Amino acid sequence: LTTADLIEEHRICVCVRKRPLNKKELSMKDLDVITIPSKNVVMVHEPKQKVDLTRYLENQTFRFDYAFDDSTANEMVYKFTARPLVETIFERGMATCFAYGQTGSGKTHTMGGDFSGKNQDCSKGIYALAGKQSCFGFSSSCAFIKEALRWKNLWTFFFCFCVFDLLNRKAKLRVLEDGKQQVQVVGLQEKEVKCTEDVLKLIEVGNSCRTSGQTSANAHSSRSHAVFQIILRRKGKMHGKFSLIDLAGNERGADTSSADRQTRLEGAEINKSLLALKECIRALGRNQPHTPFRASKLTQVLRDSFIGENSRTCMIATISPGMTSCENTLNTLRYANRVKEL
Ligand code: ADP
Ligand code: MG
Repeated sequence: LTTADLIEEHRICVCVRKRPLNKKELSMKDLDVITIPSKNVVMVHEPKQKVDLTRYLENQTFRFDYAFDDSTANEMVYKFTARPLVETIFERGMATCFAYGQTGSGKTHTMGGDFSGKNQDCSKGIYALAGKQSCFGFSSSCAFIKEALRWKNLWTFFFCFCVFDLLNRKAKLRVLEDGKQQVQVVGLQEKEVKCTEDVLKLIEVGNSCRTSGQTSANAHSSRSHAVFQIILRRKGKMHGKFSLIDLAGNERGADTSSADRQTRLEGAEINKSLLALKECIRALGRNQPHTPFRASKLTQVLRDSFIGENSRTCMIATISPGMTSCENTLNTLRYANRVKEL
């Protein structure tokens, strides 16, 4: 069974990706409590203590469409997640692929690429791989693509990158609905791309926008959602759209009890959007007539992806392997499980 078959079956694919222990965790002698015994099973082995202080491991098993272990490279993750969704945009469809997980679990590494070292390399991120595939890796299996090649001049690709800055109260983005029930995001710029270099440049700019002017890049990105969209237009009209999303860190929801008002507000906003997202995806899977997309800005932007006839979604839940992250990891896996249950 390929991902395409799975998506055909339930239109939603839910995957989990575990990252390796990092230097800090290794130096702290943090334990790796996650195993991936087969390609769709994730096990959490949580160390616990009985009342008489004897220690034991509480094992919990989760099943997903795919589970990627810490040795899996981005290209492989891409192949089974976003890659099968690329065709959708040529078939008048809407595709959505998002990374969900706690801060530091690998969302940006998966979607944006490797920004850890001095060499900022976005070429292996899912944004770039999907962007390249859309522009040039036209698959021969899709009739539309052949047509696209033939009528090259009629078809244009637009890419846009937007960041929902939850830190900045004077957010530059506003979501508006016009008379034709189309959602417009004010302040979002679409940019036409003609080659792979254009795509990579746009991703670099988008990523730097997300982190600039902040003392800590991760503190900032953990509070914002980043949306990268690939829009295929035919004679100016939208034909298909692929939204790739690097969500705010899901642990921020816990900030709702913080003493700082600003932090509390952000926590509440993140909670609201992540809950709304889950409800919208579930509604999509059930073909429910009323999709609760109005509940947050994020889901309003993704509105047409939830109501379209030909909509497909893939979720990549990213998890940290360490014992110290156990609680957040279990929350992520439970959220992913809820999305999967249709
Ligand atoms: P998030 O965006 O979820 O906050 P990041 O993507 O920034 O997390 O990842 C945190 C750190 O872990 C980064 O230094 C990143 O390079 C590293 N990392 C994440 N996932 C992987 C992976 N699969 N393999 C190797 N390093 C990873
Ligand atoms: Mg990030």
